[in-house]
Amino acid sequence: LLGADGRLAPTIFAEMTALATRTGALNLGQGFPDEDGPRAVLDAAKHAIDHGRNQYGPGRGAPELIDAIIEHQRRFYGIGLGRGDVLVTAGATEALAATMLAYLSPGDEVIAFEPYYDAYAAVAALAGAVLVPVPLAAPDFQPDPDRLQRATSPRTRMIIVNSPHNPTGAVFSEEAMRHIVRVAERRDAIIVTDEVYEHLVYDERHVPVAAFEAARERLVSISSAGKTFSITGWKVGWIMSTPERIAQIGAVKQYLTFVNASPLQPAVAVGLRLADEHYDTIVQTFARKRDILARGLRKAGFAVHDAMAGYFLLADAAPLGIDDAAALARRMPELVGVVGVPLSALARPSRRDLRSTMRFAFCKSDDTLHRAASQLAGLK
Ligand code: PMP
Ligand code: GLN
Repeated sequence: LLGADGRLAPTIFAEMTALATRTGALNLGQGFPDEDGPRAVLDAAKHAIDHGRNQYGPGRGAPELIDAIIEHQRRFYGIGLGRGDVLVTAGATEALAATMLAYLSPGDEVIAFEPYYDAYAAVAALAGAVLVPVPLAAPDFQPDPDRLQRATSPRTRMIIVNSPHNPTGAVFSEEAMRHIVRVAERRDAIIVTDEVYEHLVYDERHVPVAAFEAARERLVSISSAGKTFSITGWKVGWIMSTPERIAQIGAVKQYLTFVNASPLQPAVAVGLRLADEHYDTIVQTFARKRDILARGLRKAGFAVHDAMAGYFLLADAAPLGIDDAAALARRMPELVGVVGVPLSALARPSRRDLRSTMRFAFCKSDDTLHRAASQLAGLK
């Protein structure tokens, strides 16, 4: 996280996108699609801009978005929410930051499954808390009950559950979820979920932690519109919890962004209400993209892990005789004109098992994926 001067450095995603822009390499680094999402959602934002939705809105979020989030939870998961249970945020990123800052005090411990999305460690550090990683290991990257248990202490305040998981593409099993809930109960810890890939699950269905009755009294659930509607630049996310917790987190959120982009919120409401066809199509489309890239990476000599969900494939370069993915990532534009993210950027240096592995985003046009695959074959 930190640069040579001891301050927070640019994220690996920003660094790799800058490298791709500078060199003209194909960007399979940062996870954003290069094709637009549903027309109805884009048009709804334009309509809102043309019809006066351009000033500060209510602190909890636009009423129609709050209602659409409530409908969405009922439609997909059978979960009943009230209007006081929802807070709209600037993406999942602000949702995580506001939640962590609301609950963490200096010295508190936060558990995250490693490798992990970089923001967890960064915001924990901003709060003066300590991130305690619980390693996920190949081949299935499922949480290990004993390792989780051993990682807890009387200072454990929060457990972050990111399923579907970035970067591994794992979907945590129901058994693993139940175990996480039991451990949280024992330590009286809050469970914070990050479910931004909830609609990009290819081989099964997403089960939110909120579906586990026992979790509800200690749960803050987080999701976002970015991935579901291919609008990562809009930064519209939301938090679902009890009215008491929403009030506490909302108090912090006021001083982070106050409120979020007014015209984008009714447009995301339109997205959440789209017919099943949209949700089926994105699963089919991204599963096809995953398979194109997986085949290409295997042909190029990588050992590719199966991804059940999300935007990313993990590909081990060890069979190519490459043991340092961080060094490889910086040379890949010049070697083969492709950019990816070294997995070591999302884990501690002690994770030797992840050292030779790259993360490649497959949320790109089929043409880009085919071209990347044939260029990567040049690494052999
Ligand atoms: N969590 C995970 C696991 C992510 O991959 C991302 C990045 N897309 C985010 C949170 C941030 O989401 P948002 O863009 O909605 O802030
Ligand atoms: N979530 C995206 C990824 O993992 C990137 C978001 C960001 O750049 N912070 O690639």
